[in-house]
Amino acid sequence: MENYGHESGTSSCPGNWPIPDLVNIKALLKEGRYQLAGLPAGALEAELLLSEVLRGNRAWLFANPEHSVNEEQRSQFRQWVQRRKDGEPLAYLTGRREFWSLALKVTPDVLIPRHETELLVEVALNSIPEKARWRIADLGTGSGAIALALAVERPLCEVHATDISKTALEVARANVKNVAPGRVTLHRGSWLEPLGGRFHVIVSNPPYIASDDVHLRQGDCRFEPGTALTPGTDGLSAIRTIARAALPYLESGGLLAFEHGFEQGAAARSLLSSLGYGDVETIRDLEGLERVTTGRSA
Ligand code: GLN
Repeated sequence: MENYGHESGTSSCPGNWPIPDLVNIKALLKEGRYQLAGLPAGALEAELLLSEVLRGNRAWLFANPEHSVNEEQRSQFRQWVQRRKDGEPLAYLTGRREFWSLALKVTPDVLIPRHETELLVEVALNSIPEKARWRIADLGTGSGAIALALAVERPLCEVHATDISKTALEVARANVKNVAPGRVTLHRGSWLEPLGGRFHVIVSNPPYIASDDVHLRQGDCRFEPGTALTPGTDGLSAIRTIARAALPYLESGGLLAFEHGFEQGAAARSLLSSLGYGDVETIRDLEGLERVTTGRSA
């Protein structure tokens, strides 16, 4: 840890009279927790925001309640608290999000990786032997979260990731460089279109919320790129495109695995079956909701 700010100007420095209006960690945390009390995890979020401002972590905050926070840091913290109160996602304020224990950069150009999407990583990993030298594709990679988790867990595999958004790919590029340099090849284009050859595993967390769904007007979704969340009025349209397009790109017996909405399991299964996929199944997330559907090419 470094760069926690300045100790100067505290009452222990008699040369610095008059004492400037210093505020310590304890006081700022109290203020932040109070401001964010309306959020389900407001206290935690205040702690995370202050940790980020001071470039420390929560344990350090708790261990240093009397540490004084300089004016610039105070004003940054107060601005973030206000923006958070106004709904901006924590991850966009701090510019960071953890996914599969990887510290990822996120900006409003990419969907904020969700905890439930780790299920998709888990499902894919269950089908990829540790020593496999397979080709894997992640479609609509956004921050690169899924592709990177797979690349890190299966170092011998060749991982490709696509996204149609140039700005999303810039975020993914930064994450590849920070997390696993050279391990994920990024391609710009729609779903499989920029890819060649065949793949053993194709994964995707595509947009699947129907454009008239009220969720889009709630919480973090309000600030996230619409194209990452909704494919239009039919929530399944991107999934349909991907499932159809993936067939000629899959090795025989290759796996397609994608995330979907909790009410889309039955539709996803019947879609895959009707396209000729075998071993079609849906896996539930930790909340018990249908979240990931998989099928194998013939
Ligand atoms: N799971 C996200 C949400 O419900 C949506 C992600 C997506 O559309 N792929 O907010």
